[in-house]
Amino acid sequence: MARIIPIEGERREAVDAAIGVLSKARPVAMPTETVYGLAADATDPAAIASIYETKGRPRFNPLICHMADLEMAERYAIFDPISRSLAERFWPGPLTLVLPLKPDSAIHPLATAGLDTVGIRVPRGFAGELIRAFGRPLAAPSANSSGKISPTTAQHVDADLGDRINLVIDGGPCQVGVESTILKVEDGRIRLLRPGGVPVEAIEEATGLVVERPKGTGTAAIEAPGMLASHYAPNAHVRLDAISVMPGEALIRFGSQPVDGMGQAAAVLELSPTGDLGEAAANLFGLLKKADQTGAAGIAVTPIPDHGLGEAINDRLQRAAAPRNV
Ligand code: AMP
Ligand code: MG
Repeated sequence: MARIIPIEGERREAVDAAIGVLSKARPVAMPTETVYGLAADATDPAAIASIYETKGRPRFNPLICHMADLEMAERYAIFDPISRSLAERFWPGPLTLVLPLKPDSAIHPLATAGLDTVGIRVPRGFAGELIRAFGRPLAAPSANSSGKISPTTAQHVDADLGDRINLVIDGGPCQVGVESTILKVEDGRIRLLRPGGVPVEAIEEATGLVVERPKGTGTAAIEAPGMLASHYAPNAHVRLDAISVMPGEALIRFGSQPVDGMGQAAAVLELSPTGDLGEAAANLFGLLKKADQTGAAGIAVTPIPDHGLGEAINDRLQRAAAPRNV
Protein backbone atom coordinates (compact mmCIF):
# COMPACT_ATOMS: atom_id res chain seq x y z
CA MET A 1 0.00 0.00 0.00
CA ALA A 2 1.01 3.60 -0.49
CA ARG A 3 2.52 5.61 2.32
CA ILE A 4 0.20 8.49 3.25
CA ILE A 5 1.79 11.60 4.74
CA PRO A 6 -0.45 14.40 6.03
CA ILE A 7 0.71 17.93 5.26
CA GLU A 8 -0.55 19.23 8.55
CA GLY A 9 2.27 19.05 11.06
CA GLU A 10 4.52 17.19 8.61
CA ARG A 11 4.87 19.69 5.78
CA ARG A 12 8.63 19.47 5.55
CA GLU A 13 8.62 15.68 5.67
CA ALA A 14 5.91 15.60 2.98
CA VAL A 15 7.95 17.79 0.62
CA ASP A 16 11.14 15.78 1.23
CA ALA A 17 9.41 12.42 0.75
CA ALA A 18 7.71 13.64 -2.43
CA ILE A 19 10.99 14.89 -3.88
CA GLY A 20 12.59 11.55 -3.04
CA VAL A 21 9.95 9.69 -5.07
CA LEU A 22 9.87 12.23 -7.94
CA SER A 23 13.66 12.04 -8.25
CA LYS A 24 13.36 8.31 -8.94
CA ALA A 25 11.04 9.03 -11.90
CA ARG A 26 8.04 7.72 -9.95
CA PRO A 27 4.70 9.50 -9.53
CA VAL A 28 3.41 11.04 -6.30
CA ALA A 29 -0.24 11.74 -5.52
CA MET A 30 -0.51 15.34 -4.33
CA PRO A 31 -3.37 17.58 -3.23
CA THR A 32 -4.26 20.61 -5.33
CA GLU A 33 -7.19 22.99 -4.93
CA THR A 34 -9.01 21.26 -7.82
CA VAL A 35 -8.60 17.48 -7.33
CA TYR A 36 -5.73 15.21 -6.25
CA GLY A 37 -3.08 14.99 -8.97
CA LEU A 38 -0.76 12.14 -9.93
CA ALA A 39 2.43 14.13 -10.39
CA ALA A 40 5.73 13.32 -12.07
CA ASP A 41 8.66 15.21 -13.59
CA ALA A 42 7.37 16.75 -16.84
CA THR A 43 10.87 16.76 -18.33
CA ASP A 44 11.56 13.04 -17.81
CA PRO A 45 10.04 10.51 -20.25
CA ALA A 46 10.30 7.59 -17.79
CA ALA A 47 8.50 9.59 -15.13
CA ILE A 48 5.73 10.62 -17.53
CA ALA A 49 5.38 7.06 -18.82
CA SER A 50 4.80 5.91 -15.25
CA ILE A 51 1.81 8.29 -14.97
CA TYR A 52 0.18 6.84 -18.09
CA GLU A 53 0.87 3.30 -16.87
CA THR A 54 -0.44 3.91 -13.37
CA LYS A 55 -3.66 5.48 -14.64
CA GLY A 56 -4.11 3.24 -17.68
CA ARG A 57 -4.47 6.51 -19.58
CA PRO A 58 -4.39 6.69 -23.40
CA ARG A 59 -1.18 8.36 -24.53
CA PHE A 60 -2.87 10.64 -27.05
CA ASN A 61 -4.25 12.51 -24.06
CA PRO A 62 -1.90 15.38 -23.12
CA LEU A 63 -1.14 16.18 -19.49
CA ILE A 64 -1.36 19.54 -17.78
CA CYS A 65 2.07 20.76 -16.67
CA HIS A 66 2.09 22.42 -13.26
CA MET A 67 4.47 25.27 -12.50
CA ALA A 68 5.53 27.09 -9.33
CA ASP A 69 4.77 30.54 -10.80
CA LEU A 70 4.47 32.58 -13.99
CA GLU A 71 8.22 33.09 -14.18
CA MET A 72 8.79 29.34 -14.28
CA ALA A 73 6.01 28.92 -16.87
CA GLU A 74 7.69 31.49 -19.14
CA ARG A 75 10.76 29.27 -19.33
CA TYR A 76 8.71 26.63 -21.18
CA ALA A 77 5.92 28.40 -23.10
CA ILE A 78 5.24 31.57 -25.09
CA PHE A 79 2.72 33.97 -23.55
CA ASP A 80 0.64 36.35 -25.65
CA PRO A 81 -0.53 39.49 -23.80
CA ILE A 82 -4.03 38.13 -23.00
CA SER A 83 -2.70 34.83 -21.67
CA ARG A 84 -0.19 36.70 -19.54
CA SER A 85 -2.85 38.93 -18.05
CA LEU A 86 -5.03 35.88 -17.33
CA ALA A 87 -2.07 34.22 -15.62
CA GLU A 88 -1.38 37.32 -13.55
CA ARG A 89 -5.01 37.53 -12.52
CA PHE A 90 -5.86 33.87 -11.84
CA TRP A 91 -2.59 32.14 -10.85
CA PRO A 92 -2.17 30.42 -8.54
CA GLY A 93 -5.61 28.98 -9.15
CA PRO A 94 -7.78 26.55 -11.14
CA LEU A 95 -7.01 27.94 -14.61
CA THR A 96 -5.05 26.10 -17.32
CA LEU A 97 -3.75 27.99 -20.36
CA VAL A 98 -2.87 26.15 -23.57
CA LEU A 99 0.18 27.93 -24.97
CA PRO A 100 2.76 27.41 -27.76
CA LEU A 101 5.82 25.53 -26.49
CA LYS A 102 9.11 27.37 -26.62
CA PRO A 103 11.27 25.79 -29.36
CA ASP A 104 13.82 24.44 -26.88
CA SER A 105 11.32 23.74 -24.11
CA ALA A 106 12.46 20.98 -21.73
CA ILE A 107 8.89 19.67 -21.36
CA HIS A 108 9.03 16.17 -22.80
CA PRO A 109 6.77 15.44 -25.83
CA LEU A 110 5.21 12.52 -23.93
CA ALA A 111 3.61 15.09 -21.60
CA THR A 112 2.11 17.06 -24.50
CA ALA A 113 1.22 13.98 -26.57
CA GLY A 114 3.51 15.41 -29.26
CA LEU A 115 1.51 18.64 -29.72
CA ASP A 116 3.34 21.94 -30.27
CA THR A 117 1.36 23.44 -27.40
CA VAL A 118 1.36 22.77 -23.67
CA GLY A 119 -1.36 23.11 -21.04
CA ILE A 120 0.06 24.99 -18.04
CA ARG A 121 -1.29 25.87 -14.64
CA VAL A 122 0.04 27.15 -11.32
CA PRO A 123 -1.71 25.36 -8.43
CA ARG A 124 -2.36 26.89 -5.01
CA GLY A 125 -0.84 25.71 -1.77
CA PHE A 126 1.25 22.58 -1.21
CA ALA A 127 1.57 21.59 -4.88
CA GLY A 128 3.09 24.97 -5.75
CA GLU A 129 5.55 24.69 -2.87
CA LEU A 130 6.53 21.18 -3.94
CA ILE A 131 7.20 22.30 -7.53
CA ARG A 132 9.31 25.22 -6.31
CA ALA A 133 11.35 22.87 -4.11
CA PHE A 134 11.70 20.29 -6.91
CA GLY A 135 12.71 22.97 -9.41
CA ARG A 136 11.02 21.37 -12.43
CA PRO A 137 7.43 21.33 -13.72
CA LEU A 138 5.18 18.45 -12.71
CA ALA A 139 2.88 16.80 -15.22
CA ALA A 140 -0.21 15.85 -13.22
CA PRO A 141 -3.53 14.46 -14.37
CA SER A 142 -6.09 13.51 -11.75
CA ALA A 143 -4.92 10.70 -9.45
CA ASN A 144 -7.46 8.07 -10.51
CA SER A 145 -7.65 5.16 -12.94
CA SER A 146 -8.44 6.55 -16.37
CA GLY A 147 -12.17 7.11 -16.92
CA LYS A 148 -13.07 6.93 -13.23
CA ILE A 149 -14.28 9.66 -10.89
CA SER A 150 -11.60 12.17 -9.90
CA PRO A 151 -10.38 11.97 -6.27
CA THR A 152 -10.96 14.85 -3.87
CA THR A 153 -9.50 13.17 -0.77
CA ALA A 154 -6.31 11.20 -0.08
CA GLN A 155 -8.54 8.25 0.86
CA HIS A 156 -10.14 8.25 -2.62
CA VAL A 157 -6.64 8.10 -4.15
CA ASP A 158 -5.52 5.32 -1.84
CA ALA A 159 -8.61 3.21 -2.53
CA ASP A 160 -8.07 3.43 -6.31
CA LEU A 161 -4.29 3.58 -6.83
CA GLY A 162 -2.88 2.64 -3.39
CA ASP A 163 -1.35 -0.62 -4.60
CA ARG A 164 0.25 1.03 -7.66
CA ILE A 165 1.96 4.09 -6.15
CA ASN A 166 4.42 4.70 -3.33
CA LEU A 167 3.24 7.96 -1.83
CA VAL A 168 0.09 9.99 -1.25
CA ILE A 169 0.38 13.45 0.30
CA ASP A 170 -2.77 14.12 2.33
CA GLY A 171 -3.90 17.75 2.27
CA GLY A 172 -7.50 17.06 3.31
CA PRO A 173 -10.50 17.56 1.01
CA CYS A 174 -9.89 19.69 -2.12
CA GLN A 175 -11.35 23.18 -1.84
CA VAL A 176 -12.60 23.61 -5.41
CA GLY A 177 -13.42 19.98 -6.18
CA VAL A 178 -13.63 20.14 -10.00
CA GLU A 179 -10.73 20.30 -12.44
CA SER A 180 -9.31 23.51 -13.87
CA THR A 181 -10.91 25.65 -16.55
CA ILE A 182 -8.89 25.22 -19.77
CA LEU A 183 -8.54 28.20 -22.13
CA LYS A 184 -6.68 28.82 -25.35
CA VAL A 185 -6.04 32.31 -26.65
CA GLU A 186 -5.69 32.67 -30.41
CA ASP A 187 -5.61 35.86 -32.48
CA GLY A 188 -6.86 37.88 -29.55
CA ARG A 189 -9.82 35.55 -28.95
CA ILE A 190 -10.34 33.37 -25.89
CA ARG A 191 -11.67 29.87 -26.44
CA LEU A 192 -13.01 27.64 -23.71
CA LEU A 193 -11.66 24.10 -24.07
CA ARG A 194 -13.09 22.84 -20.79
CA PRO A 195 -15.23 24.52 -18.14
CA GLY A 196 -13.78 24.21 -14.64
CA GLY A 197 -12.90 25.85 -11.36
CA VAL A 198 -12.75 29.43 -12.67
CA PRO A 199 -16.21 30.42 -13.94
CA VAL A 200 -16.37 31.76 -17.50
CA GLU A 201 -18.07 34.88 -16.13
CA ALA A 202 -14.95 35.67 -14.08
CA ILE A 203 -12.73 35.38 -17.17
CA GLU A 204 -15.03 37.67 -19.15
CA GLU A 205 -15.16 40.20 -16.36
CA ALA A 206 -11.37 40.23 -15.98
CA THR A 207 -10.63 40.60 -19.71
CA GLY A 208 -13.66 42.44 -21.06
CA LEU A 209 -13.74 39.76 -23.80
CA VAL A 210 -16.40 37.22 -24.65
CA VAL A 211 -15.21 33.66 -24.07
CA GLU A 212 -16.04 31.45 -27.05
CA ARG A 213 -17.54 28.11 -26.13
CA PRO A 214 -17.06 25.02 -28.27
CA LYS A 215 -19.79 24.49 -30.85
CA GLY A 216 -22.31 21.81 -29.96
CA THR A 217 -22.43 20.44 -26.46
CA GLY A 218 -19.54 19.59 -24.20
CA THR A 219 -15.88 20.33 -24.66
CA ALA A 220 -13.86 20.92 -27.84
CA ALA A 221 -13.13 17.50 -29.29
CA ILE A 222 -10.01 18.17 -31.32
CA GLU A 223 -8.29 20.75 -29.16
CA ALA A 224 -8.78 18.75 -26.03
CA PRO A 225 -8.37 15.17 -27.19
CA GLY A 226 -8.57 13.84 -23.66
CA MET A 227 -12.04 15.10 -23.03
CA LEU A 228 -13.72 11.87 -23.94
CA ALA A 229 -17.49 11.84 -23.88
CA SER A 230 -17.66 9.12 -21.22
CA HIS A 231 -15.55 9.99 -18.22
CA TYR A 232 -15.96 10.26 -14.47
CA ALA A 233 -17.98 7.08 -14.86
CA PRO A 234 -19.60 5.53 -11.80
CA ASN A 235 -20.83 1.93 -12.09
CA ALA A 236 -24.43 3.03 -11.68
CA HIS A 237 -26.39 4.60 -14.51
CA VAL A 238 -26.56 8.39 -14.02
CA ARG A 239 -29.80 10.23 -14.84
CA LEU A 240 -29.67 14.03 -15.04
CA ASP A 241 -32.27 16.77 -14.51
CA ALA A 242 -34.34 14.36 -12.44
CA ILE A 243 -37.55 15.72 -10.96
CA SER A 244 -38.41 12.42 -9.28
CA VAL A 245 -36.63 9.34 -7.97
CA MET A 246 -37.36 5.92 -9.45
CA PRO A 247 -37.37 2.76 -7.31
CA GLY A 248 -33.82 1.56 -6.64
CA GLU A 249 -32.18 4.88 -7.46
CA ALA A 250 -29.97 6.97 -5.18
CA LEU A 251 -30.67 10.70 -5.26
CA ILE A 252 -28.14 13.51 -5.48
CA ARG A 253 -29.96 16.74 -4.77
CA PHE A 254 -29.04 20.41 -5.29
CA GLY A 255 -30.95 22.79 -3.05
CA SER A 256 -33.63 21.75 -0.60
CA GLN A 257 -36.72 21.31 -2.81
CA PRO A 258 -38.54 18.06 -2.01
CA VAL A 259 -38.20 15.51 -4.84
CA ASP A 260 -40.98 13.09 -5.77
CA GLY A 261 -40.26 9.59 -4.45
CA MET A 262 -37.28 10.63 -2.34
CA GLY A 263 -38.67 8.72 0.64
CA GLN A 264 -37.95 5.50 -1.25
CA ALA A 265 -34.50 6.50 -2.54
CA ALA A 266 -31.58 4.13 -1.84
CA ALA A 267 -29.82 7.23 -0.42
CA VAL A 268 -30.37 10.97 -0.42
CA LEU A 269 -27.13 12.92 -0.83
CA GLU A 270 -26.94 16.72 -0.66
CA LEU A 271 -24.66 18.71 -3.02
CA SER A 272 -25.58 21.96 -1.29
CA PRO A 273 -28.77 22.39 0.75
CA THR A 274 -28.47 26.18 0.42
CA GLY A 275 -27.98 26.05 -3.35
CA ASP A 276 -24.35 27.22 -3.28
CA LEU A 277 -22.54 26.19 -6.49
CA GLY A 278 -19.07 26.36 -4.90
CA GLU A 279 -20.14 23.96 -2.17
CA ALA A 280 -21.78 21.71 -4.77
CA ALA A 281 -18.57 21.60 -6.86
CA ALA A 282 -16.50 20.69 -3.80
CA ASN A 283 -18.93 17.86 -2.93
CA LEU A 284 -19.60 16.56 -6.45
CA PHE A 285 -17.07 13.76 -6.98
CA GLY A 286 -17.23 12.51 -3.40
CA LEU A 287 -21.02 12.20 -3.58
CA LEU A 288 -20.90 10.43 -6.94
CA LYS A 289 -18.60 7.86 -5.32
CA LYS A 290 -20.83 7.60 -2.28
CA ALA A 291 -23.96 7.14 -4.40
CA ASP A 292 -22.16 4.42 -6.33
CA GLN A 293 -21.14 2.68 -3.12
CA THR A 294 -24.77 2.29 -2.07
CA GLY A 295 -24.96 -0.30 -4.84
CA ALA A 296 -27.99 1.47 -6.32
CA ALA A 297 -28.61 0.61 -9.98
CA GLY A 298 -29.10 4.26 -10.83
CA ILE A 299 -28.21 7.73 -9.59
CA ALA A 300 -30.76 10.49 -10.14
CA VAL A 301 -29.39 14.06 -10.04
CA THR A 302 -31.66 17.09 -9.76
CA PRO A 303 -31.16 20.06 -12.15
CA ILE A 304 -28.19 22.33 -11.46
CA PRO A 305 -28.09 25.95 -12.68
CA ASP A 306 -25.74 26.28 -15.66
CA HIS A 307 -23.99 29.50 -14.66
CA GLY A 308 -20.79 30.10 -12.68
CA LEU A 309 -19.33 26.84 -11.37
CA GLY A 310 -22.56 25.13 -12.45
CA GLU A 311 -21.16 24.98 -15.99
CA ALA A 312 -18.24 22.79 -14.83
CA ILE A 313 -20.52 20.69 -12.61
CA ASN A 314 -22.93 20.03 -15.49
CA ASP A 315 -20.05 19.23 -17.84
CA ARG A 316 -18.75 16.55 -15.45
CA LEU A 317 -22.23 15.18 -14.82
CA GLN A 318 -22.89 14.89 -18.56
CA ARG A 319 -19.71 12.85 -18.92
CA ALA A 320 -20.68 10.69 -15.96
CA ALA A 321 -24.05 10.09 -17.62
CA ALA A 322 -22.74 9.51 -21.17
CA PRO A 323 -23.11 6.08 -22.77
CA ARG A 324 -20.01 3.95 -22.08
CA ASN A 325 -17.69 2.40 -24.68
CA VAL A 326 -17.81 5.33 -27.08
P1 AMP B 1 -6.44 16.55 -16.86
O1 AMP B 1 -6.98 15.21 -17.26
O2 AMP B 1 -7.29 17.28 -15.88
O3 AMP B 1 -5.00 16.50 -16.51
O4 AMP B 1 -6.52 17.48 -18.13
C1 AMP B 1 -5.85 17.12 -19.27
C2 AMP B 1 -6.58 17.74 -20.39
O5 AMP B 1 -6.03 19.00 -20.65
C3 AMP B 1 -6.40 16.97 -21.65
O6 AMP B 1 -7.29 15.90 -21.73
C4 AMP B 1 -6.71 18.02 -22.67
O7 AMP B 1 -8.10 18.13 -22.79
C5 AMP B 1 -6.19 19.28 -22.03
N1 AMP B 1 -4.89 19.66 -22.56
C6 AMP B 1 -3.69 19.49 -21.99
N2 AMP B 1 -2.71 19.92 -22.79
C7 AMP B 1 -3.31 20.37 -23.90
C8 AMP B 1 -2.85 20.92 -25.13
N3 AMP B 1 -1.55 21.10 -25.38
N4 AMP B 1 -3.76 21.26 -26.05
C9 AMP B 1 -5.07 21.07 -25.81
N5 AMP B 1 -5.57 20.54 -24.70
C10 AMP B 1 -4.71 20.20 -23.75
MG1 MG C 1 -8.89 13.24 -14.89
